[in-house]
Amino acid sequence: MTPARQTRAQRLAMPLARQVMRDLAIEHGGCIRPVQLRRTDITTGQTDQVLVPCGHTLATVCPACASRAKTLRAAQCREGWHLDTEPAIAPDDPDDEQQMWVERRAETQRDRDEAAAAGQDTAELDELAGELDELITRSGLRGHVLPAQPARRRRSTRRRQDTPDLPRKPIMARTIGRTYTAPDGTTYRPSMFLTLTCDSYGTVREDGTPADADSYDYPRAARDAIHFAALFDRLVQNLRRFLGYDVQYFAAVEPQRRLAPHVHIAIRGTISRADLRRVLAATYHQVWWPPADHVRYEDDELPVWHEASGRYLDPTTGAFLPTWDQALDAIGTTAEPLHVARFGPRFDAKGVLAGSKDTARCIGYLTKYLTKQLGHCHQAQTDAEHAHAERLADALRYELCSPACANWLRYGIEPKNPRPGLRPGQCKGKAHRREYLGYGGRRVLVSRKWSGKTLADHRADRKAWLTEALGISATDPARYSWEPVTPGDPDYMPNGRRLLHVVADRLKWQTALDEARRRAGVQAASLSATRRAA
Ligand SMILES: [Zn+2]
Ligand SMILES: [Zn+2]
Repeated sequence: MTPARQTRAQRLAMPLARQVMRDLAIEHGGCIRPVQLRRTDITTGQTDQVLVPCGHTLATVCPACASRAKTLRAAQCREGWHLDTEPAIAPDDPDDEQQMWVERRAETQRDRDEAAAAGQDTAELDELAGELDELITRSGLRGHVLPAQPARRRRSTRRRQDTPDLPRKPIMARTIGRTYTAPDGTTYRPSMFLTLTCDSYGTVREDGTPADADSYDYPRAARDAIHFAALFDRLVQNLRRFLGYDVQYFAAVEPQRRLAPHVHIAIRGTISRADLRRVLAATYHQVWWPPADHVRYEDDELPVWHEASGRYLDPTTGAFLPTWDQALDAIGTTAEPLHVARFGPRFDAKGVLAGSKDTARCIGYLTKYLTKQLGHCHQAQTDAEHAHAERLADALRYELCSPACANWLRYGIEPKNPRPGLRPGQCKGKAHRREYLGYGGRRVLVSRKWSGKTLADHRADRKAWLTEALGISATDPARYSWEPVTPGDPDYMPNGRRLLHVVADRLKWQTALDEARRRAGVQAASLSATRRAA
């Protein structure tokens, strides 16, 4: 049968219908970018299609998945904060889903390496590999598929870090904080909520814009943002050494109105304000990178790529630029670090008791902006705010984001892992992009023994709760094999059809949940919270 010919009006209505499907899926809390998987029953050979939520954490990409991710983070934060027994950490065998993602990750790596060998741009494949790493982590495997690059250098720049001026205690294996017993016999196990900021770069007004833009220290603001994650690591190290136990944390990095990062930290256990001030004063991160105070190559006469050697040359003399390792080795013993990052002297610290209203409020702060990019948390409204964001972006453009940063070419140093086409001012590093405000690290930083569970474990908990509430028996994971469905396959569903299924599934779930609620007489509030998390 030939399909009926469409009128122009019908064709124009098509994208609208797609938009309606999308909106409907969002309204019902469904994923708008579901991944299609083919599930085969190993015993019967029967196949069916399963739509897996994309799991994206940004609301601009997938509102439902981002909102679920945020709820999950809140649950993770809540569970670990006031633990009163040591969490058990034991890895399980990989299951089928994990194996599938690992195989896809391997294929991507092969494609990427082939593209790199052919001198092609690998940015997209790198990004895909990063997403797959996320999926692998989400599926419950710990660590990454590829081991970190083996260190070739003998001389460590880390050793140059000065020891902080703090008394040190041996770190005990304990991760839970101390308890306090009141005269009436009640036991308290208080924990902490901290907010740490960067230093001042100049006076700012109420709206976060500088009172005097010309004297505001944009270069230092840019560098502090780039090294913020490393500074946070140093703080944790120092806290553990100072307090003498394996301090656990759940932290979220967010921008202040002045567009500098700050960090909210939930800590298990307590520390006095005086001690905290002491640890903060002694905490800094030195960046031992080659000096970059003198621009050697401007944009009109940049170093050139030499194909045969895979290196960069001086455009006039044809001499090789020093490699990254050579430049590091050339740092003199009396040299100063390129940058020293520190927290600002102002901080917020308060004790929080398990199960209190304060706990809920703090978890709200910790997860508030997680579904947004850093650069989208405070949208510029006024001219002054636009100008401030613009100046920071300018400062970040030629800042050095990492040893592999293309901007090293300006200073006559070959970036680490050089490849053709590197151009200062156009480095692909996240830190340079507007939406990251200089901070390219993870938004949520969770220590390994926080709740003793991965996000996948927390997700599984939710699912188990839900299947039990609905009286569904859990499926045996060993019964199925899984494979991705690609556009060439006969059973491939285009996105529009997937969304239809997503909406239908959500409606079915909601009806079943309402029914369960009626049956159990459970409070509506707790169920709707679970529905959001499901
Ligand atoms: Zn999604
Ligand atoms: Zn860079």
